[in-house]
Order: sequence, then C-alpha cells, then structure tokens
Amino acid sequence: MFKKILVANRGEIALRVIRAAREMGIGSVAVHSTADSDAMHVRMADESVCIGPPSSQHSYLSIPAIIAACEITGAEAIHPGYGFLSENANFVQIIQDHGLTFIGPTAEHIRVMGDKITAKDTMKKLGVPCVPGSEGGVGSVEEARKLGAEMGYPVIIKATAGGGGKGMKVATSADDMEKAFLTARAEGKSNFGNDEVYIEKYLTTPRHIEIQVFGDGKGRAVHLGERDCSLQRRHQKVFEEAPGPAISPEERARIGKTCADAMADINYIGAGTIEFLYENGEFYFIEMNTRLQVEHPVTEGIFGVDLVREQIRVAAGLPMEFTQENLKINGHAIEVRLNAEKLPDFRPSPGRISQYHAPGGLGVRMDSALYDGYSIPPYYDSLIGKLIVHGRDRPEALSRLGRALGELIIDGIDTTIPLFHALLAEEAVQTGEYNIHWLEHWLETNLGDS
Ligand code: ADP
Repeated sequence: MFKKILVANRGEIALRVIRAAREMGIGSVAVHSTADSDAMHVRMADESVCIGPPSSQHSYLSIPAIIAACEITGAEAIHPGYGFLSENANFVQIIQDHGLTFIGPTAEHIRVMGDKITAKDTMKKLGVPCVPGSEGGVGSVEEARKLGAEMGYPVIIKATAGGGGKGMKVATSADDMEKAFLTARAEGKSNFGNDEVYIEKYLTTPRHIEIQVFGDGKGRAVHLGERDCSLQRRHQKVFEEAPGPAISPEERARIGKTCADAMADINYIGAGTIEFLYENGEFYFIEMNTRLQVEHPVTEGIFGVDLVREQIRVAAGLPMEFTQENLKINGHAIEVRLNAEKLPDFRPSPGRISQYHAPGGLGVRMDSALYDGYSIPPYYDSLIGKLIVHGRDRPEALSRLGRALGELIIDGIDTTIPLFHALLAEEAVQTGEYNIHWLEHWLETNLGDS
C-alpha cells in the first residue's frame, strides 16, 4: 500500500480523499493556489505545497507543478478528485512516465470515454443501449438537417468533447437547426478546443439515471445500482438520490449487469459512472464519467461502502473488496448540492462566512470545506458543500433532509439552501415523480429563472 498520496484538488472533494487516506493510515499531501492558503484541505492534510497563483490554469491544472509537488514530498500516487485534471488522459500518461500511480482508470479508457462519439460507439459494441442518433460526427448543417428530417424533431446537437452541460443545443425544427448546430460547434471549440458535434434524438420526458460501476482492472467488475439525478438546472445536477424512485429491482439488476459486464470486458479499473436517460422503461446511454462523481455519497449511503478507499486499494494493486453478491441496498439516500449562489438567478456569491453550523444526528453527512471565518475565493466552482441524508426509506430520508436543512447555518454569503426548503414542499419531489425538465419549469414558474 502507498505510504503517501497527493490530492490534486481542493474543497470538499479534497477533504473526502484526505479522510479516506487517514483512515487507511496513508499520509496525505494537499496542493493549493495562493488563494487557498487558508483552505480547509490545506489545514487537514499532513503536508501541503503551494503550486501557483489563483488562476486554476496555473495551479490546479498545472501538471508540472503537481508532479514537482509529488517529487518534493515523496508522494507515490495522485488522486484527482473530480473536475480539474480528473479526466485528462495526458496527465495520467505523465504521472506514469514519472513512475507515479494515478488513482483512477487508464489513460486509454479516459481517452475513449472522454470523446462522446467514441464512447457511444464503444458502448454500443459492448451491448449497452444508446440514444438513437447520428453514426459518429456530423460535419455540416445540411447533413444535420437531413438527419433531423429522418429522425424527427426535436433533436439535440452535442459537442463530442462537451461536459458540465456545455456544448449542447436543442433544435425543435429544421428552422432551428442552423443556429443550434453552429452554437454547439462554437461552444465545443471555445470550451474544449474541439468543434466536432453529433446528433441525438432529444428525449422529452426522461429521467437521468446513472449506474455506478467499479472494476479491478483484471477483468472483474461490479455495479452499485443507480442514482437518479433528474433534478437539474441547465443540465447540471442539484439533487440526487439512490435508489431511483422509478427503477424496479429487476430493471436495476438488468442494466447493472449490462454495465458491469461491459466494464469487465474492457478491464476497467476503479470507479466509473455510466449515464443514461430513462424513458418508458428503456435506458439510453449518454456518456461515461471515468472518475468519482460529486454525488457518489448517496451510493455510499445505501451500500455502506467507501468508494475512495476502494479506488486507492485497486490503484495499489490490491483486490477489490466488493463482490456483486455482497452489495446489498439498505434504505434510501439523498444529496443536495449547496452552492454559494444568490437566488433567483444563481449569481455566484463568494465572500466571508461569518457563521457556519453543520447539521448532525442520525443519518446525516455533511461534506464541506467551510469553517467559521473562511473566505470563499471567487476563482473556483461555487459548490461549497453537499448535505447527504440516509433513511430507512424515501419518506424518512426526505423528512431527515428537511430536519437537517433546518439545522444548517451558513451566514455571510448567499446560498442555494432556500431552494431545497422550497423543493421539499413540492408534491413532485415528495412523490419522486419528476423528469429532467421538471426543475427548469419549476424555476421558471417560481423564480422567474430562464
Ligand atoms: P455533460 O457531459 O455536459 O454533463 P451529458 O451528455 O451527460 O452532458 O448530458 C447532461 C444532461 O443533458 C442530461 O442529464 C440531460 O438532462 C440532458 N441531455 C443530454 N442528452 C439528451 C438527450 N438526448 N435528450 C434529452 N436530454 C438530454
């Protein structure tokens, strides 16, 4: 096992990894920008190294600075968290070239899944059902219109390199196509340096259901059920739960096995998430994330496992502790993402936390890097914490969420806490009868958000 690992991230996810390392008796190294000298991950790690100025480009995304930090501290492996360099195949290659270990999948798997066209093609060949759409990339508006006519509108044009909800545009008719096509292409180019796009049928009432998979890199893989992440704003998740309220045990076992078998086939190593849209009892693959997800704690809650510990173990060459037979679902878990944002328009609201009180009690987990007096820097993502609750069933988890939100105090900045109080009062949230468009409509009606 490693003696020391470096965490190439910040915020709550850096703490998450440091905590797992400490429980395993592994030393931890935090890296940070000059804007994060006082950050909780720096305080909590055994050692820390400043790797650059506030801009992520020159700190959390600086591969040379991170490799140098490993060399200075003697860290043997790097955990990337999510975001930043977590899905950068080049980073993985460089880590290996320096004789270090990347805690995550191989560069090759990251490369294949990082390009959505190649990912879809690969999954289709592995027997995973996909959203109907173009075979590969679409090069011109004319070709896009021809496909639109064949498939029937609405369709969605997606940048193959897209992520974080960027590079996706819906065309509702042939008239819309030119604008949607060119915008998706331009967003792909400006955000990801790649203007290749493809087309999919736009599903009108699906849920977002994603399957957690885990492999040992030696041909064994398991699934840890699904998460329903349908409550989204601008294609970004805000509320996630497991198990999915609309998925039966039979459906879970069937799609779970398809995913686990596909991962076993490609010798996948570590944690991964296979994302689907689910409509009328059918699953349609949209993309795979080759890393730990923000919402992984809901899966940990219902299965009673530590996914980060398992990631570190398999990266060190140890066997996976999971077996499919031993993975049993217990109860229901819900996560809400707390952002430093001001409602109704979700404008970023960085600043100093004058008072912070985390909720506690049975079935409550608060993953956050906040503390009293901490100043949230304006340079990074606005996620400031995740509140995760676990109950014996969905109604208990929901009432526990309401109780925990009531205890939570984050003063000094604006947050999205009021959104969740309001959502809990909604019948659709209480019954679990929502789809990926429900929240957008609700926000438009209730907050005037568009
Ligand atoms: P990203 O990589 O940016 O997260 P995804 O491909 O994972 O993009 O899609 C994110 C979200 O966009 C989905 O959860 C869903 O809400 C919406 N979406 C993507 N593809 C489709 C589709 N074919 N039909 C309807 N909605 C879609």
